[in-house]
Amino acid sequence: MEQFNRFSVSVDKNLRILAGEDQFFAYLGLKKLNTFEKIVYPGDLDQLRTTVEQLEPDRQEFTCFRIQDKNKNYRWVSAHLEFGDTDVSKAAICIQMYDIRNMEEDISESSYDQMTGVLNKQAIIRKAHHLAAKRPYEKFILCVMDIDNFKSVNDVYGHMRGDEVIIDVAHIIREQVGKAGSVGRIGGDEFMILLEHAEDEQSARSYLKAIRLAVEALYAENGDGVHVTVTIGAVLFPDHAHTYEELFLVADKMLYIGKMKGRNRYIIYTPELHGNMLSDDKVANSSYRKTIRNKTKFMMELFEKALHHEAIILQDVMNEVVCHYNLDAMYFFFDESDTSVCGRIHENGIEDLTADSEMSMSALHAENIGRLFNENKIAILDFREMKRDLCSGIYDYIEGKGIRYMIIYRMDRERNPGHIVYVNRRDNSRKFADSDVTDLTYISKILEVISENGVARN
Ligand code: GH3
Ligand code: MG
Repeated sequence: MEQFNRFSVSVDKNLRILAGEDQFFAYLGLKKLNTFEKIVYPGDLDQLRTTVEQLEPDRQEFTCFRIQDKNKNYRWVSAHLEFGDTDVSKAAICIQMYDIRNMEEDISESSYDQMTGVLNKQAIIRKAHHLAAKRPYEKFILCVMDIDNFKSVNDVYGHMRGDEVIIDVAHIIREQVGKAGSVGRIGGDEFMILLEHAEDEQSARSYLKAIRLAVEALYAENGDGVHVTVTIGAVLFPDHAHTYEELFLVADKMLYIGKMKGRNRYIIYTPELHGNMLSDDKVANSSYRKTIRNKTKFMMELFEKALHHEAIILQDVMNEVVCHYNLDAMYFFFDESDTSVCGRIHENGIEDLTADSEMSMSALHAENIGRLFNENKIAILDFREMKRDLCSGIYDYIEGKGIRYMIIYRMDRERNPGHIVYVNRRDNSRKFADSDVTDLTYISKILEVISENGVARN
């Protein structure tokens, strides 16, 4: 597995070194070494000597022992030994080693996530703790990564395809990170990455960008319509956080900001831009992200407020809907007052539909538009599957505005009639999950009732 350091050395029967790869010497932090025994853990030497003595031509032997790395830590290696056909000598024994375990971190085979082959949650967290507590310290970067809109992959293409996506993404991260760090799976579609050889923001950026682009590219070429991207939050140790807990909190908050900004991006904590995360009460509560991103909880709170006639600020609710359902924008168009309200449009969003409100209004009242609505007063439009004949007014409008998906809810109550519109742009080929359409129908209904009773719009 790429997770491990791998290197080889040639020795004679007395374990004197004949030749070694540069990587081997770099691992040891030495320029030269005469005898292999010098770096082997004394308690493991006898076993190694016996294996060498018993080695026969054309046979391989496998064994494990500990060797001292450049930081003077003993690390477990699994080794396979065989007589090499090298030009050094026919009698040379080639020892090929895989670094499998660091005694201090105690990473064993059981530390790997069975599905993806990266470290499991306990192991990667242990490793992060270890790196943060190690003295003298070495710089590293802690990243938390989450697959975007993963639930809709499960919903639309099935759980098995979902599993394949998780495995593909794990492989991409491992490939991109290579030996520069460690990767672990910390949740269903969540990963932690420790970039141990990235010392500054610049080098972190190059790794994170490579991961983001590689995931995007894999699914861009993939013909089955699955569209997957990832969002990553990152923080530098020891520059901006000093303990594992602080690191996780800040990286997680960056992940949350990345999701809010429209996903498919990485955000590295920068104090000048993001302020002091650790004194922020909301961030100090580690369940903050879970709370804010939980769609069900958001809906329950909205129901509760509506049922208790609590004040609701439409703009705030719209911003939350845009974030939770990964929309490019959400709009309210009120027929009579000729006014509109716009939910946040992501940076890479579509043209603002409220910019030309009159045009939007006329599109929403196009001839034949009524036939697009179902009995729940919802029209679900997918530009690629839409027939122009059905309603040319809305078709031309959607085409002109660069919209791929549009969900329209018709508010036809006496007071404040109008439309609630949810849109995703053309290059966001993700289909809405059925469960999201259901949620948006409920949300529309509640907002319709609230808006009828008068609502704070700003
Ligand atoms: P967001 O962009 O906000 O992350 O949206 P999301 O849909 O990805 O939401 P979230 O990360 O909260 O959802 C992760 C989902 O992953 C929840 C769960 O149904 C699903 N999941 C968790 N473990 C597995 C797994 O092993 N296999 C599959 N196929 N799905 C899983
Ligand atoms: Mg996700």
